[in-house]
Amino acid sequence: MTRKPIMAGNWKMNVDHIEATGLVEKLHYTLVDKEWDPKKSDAVLCVPFTDLRTVKTLIDGDRLHFGLGAQNVSQHDNGAYTGEISTAMLSKLGVQYVIVGHSERREYYGETDEIINAKAKKVLAAGMTPIICVGEGLDIRKAGEHVEYTLNQVRGTLADLSAEQVAGLVIAYEPVWAIGTGEVATPDDAQEVCGAIRREVAALYDEPTAESVRIQYGGSVKSGNVAQIMSQPDIDGALVGGASLQPDEFAAIVRFYQ
Ligand code: PGA
Repeated sequence: MTRKPIMAGNWKMNVDHIEATGLVEKLHYTLVDKEWDPKKSDAVLCVPFTDLRTVKTLIDGDRLHFGLGAQNVSQHDNGAYTGEISTAMLSKLGVQYVIVGHSERREYYGETDEIINAKAKKVLAAGMTPIICVGEGLDIRKAGEHVEYTLNQVRGTLADLSAEQVAGLVIAYEPVWAIGTGEVATPDDAQEVCGAIRREVAALYDEPTAESVRIQYGGSVKSGNVAQIMSQPDIDGALVGGASLQPDEFAAIVRFYQ
């Protein structure tokens, strides 16, 4: 596979900046003295805004081979948007990745494909990499409409992006029914949708773009099931929630491609 795999942790609204020190140090000790080849795979920590500076300092200080990620961003540049955080604020803190359109943002904060598309554009314009989340809920899956539903989100969130931009970003397929439930999609189920996403990118752009874009699976990934899911040809990594809060678990996951 020519694509570089990418394992990303999503702490969600867990771990304050004091607790972050303990968690990253434990991760570091678990990984320390083990060879890490940065050419083989990327590892990313997507942390709360208030943890970014602390985690950046820890990553740099420990020379951990980790990228820094945020979990959300404003679609506006600056101005009267109380409580929002801009892409410039993130990039100046050394943030390299931003999750956009997580299903929890879609469900609880009304984020639509249009908003997510606007956010992805801002992230790219600021020189960072969006991790764009897509995926169906249980009712859609039961109705057998999960592929078309997810591809519709792909079309909406990638609207007006160039082939070059899409080639460099990350799409995370996260079936909502598998998030935080312990119910992981079967490797075949995950591959069915991830393969369809790649074919859709080829149809919207071209084959080289489809071959470059990295597609993650997310939803109850753990050290015990990561190998099965990563064995699928169109899955290039994982977006990991719960297991990223456990240093031993996450260390095992990020080392999978090493
Ligand atoms: P989970 O979360 O690994 O806890 O299922 C994944 C996610 O929401 O990104």
